Amino acid sequence: MQDNDKIISYHEMVAIEKMALQRGMVFSDGKRKYSILLMSQRKDAMYNDDFDENGNLIYEGHNAKAENGIDQKKIDQPLETSSGKWTENGKFYKAAMDFKSDIRMIPELVKVYEKIDSGVWSTKGFFKLIDVKQISDGKRNVFKFYLKPVITKIFNRTEDLPFNRLIPTSVKVKVWERDRGKCVLCGAIENLHYDHELPYAKGGTSLTEKNIRILCAKCNLSKSDKIMMLVC
Ligand SMILES: [Zn+2]
Repeated sequence: MQDNDKIISYHEMVAIEKMALQRGMVFSDGKRKYSILLMSQRKDAMYNDDFDENGNLIYEGHNAKAENGIDQKKIDQPLETSSGKWTENGKFYKAAMDFKSDIRMIPELVKVYEKIDSGVWSTKGFFKLIDVKQISDGKRNVFKFYLKPVITKIFNRTEDLPFNRLIPTSVKVKVWERDRGKCVLCGAIENLHYDHELPYAKGGTSLTEKNIRILCAKCNLSKSDKIMMLVC
């Protein structure tokens, strides 16, 4: 089981990361070895997060803090606050630009969570921040951050992850609805994750809901025992 496919509540996510995550963008602060981004591809999503054809996440920056009388969706997404400090956009922007211009050798490591349903989240996995662009959305300028999926190794080393290993958000949402948020084998509603019925390593696909189901940790263990018995 890959850590990327866990299903957790908002509170569990906060407990895992030991911090409030309302902002949705959290740049690493030195103590933390990675940054955090929360994404959503749901219809009600506030921002337009997407994947390109190579499986890179294109994450939209965030709006300025709400102030009286100003429509935040009509003004440019800011790099700095009104008091001249970097916003989270600004911190991610600087990290991406530094990596692009060889000022920094190792790209910023970013853990991504995605929203599945109200209060329901799934780990998308680790990505490296490789690029940023400021583009017009027709009304104002927004940031687009480019992130490549990776497998994390010890000592902060990463390997690129084949993009078709990632279960697309649309598949996760369909499976969540089809399996009604429960383990398909025992009905448990805790310690859930998205399981490849035919494992990815054995040629099973991530790209269709037919090969993806919800399992609990217990049923997943007995599944691996069965696979071991078949092998032995
Ligand atoms: Zn189960």
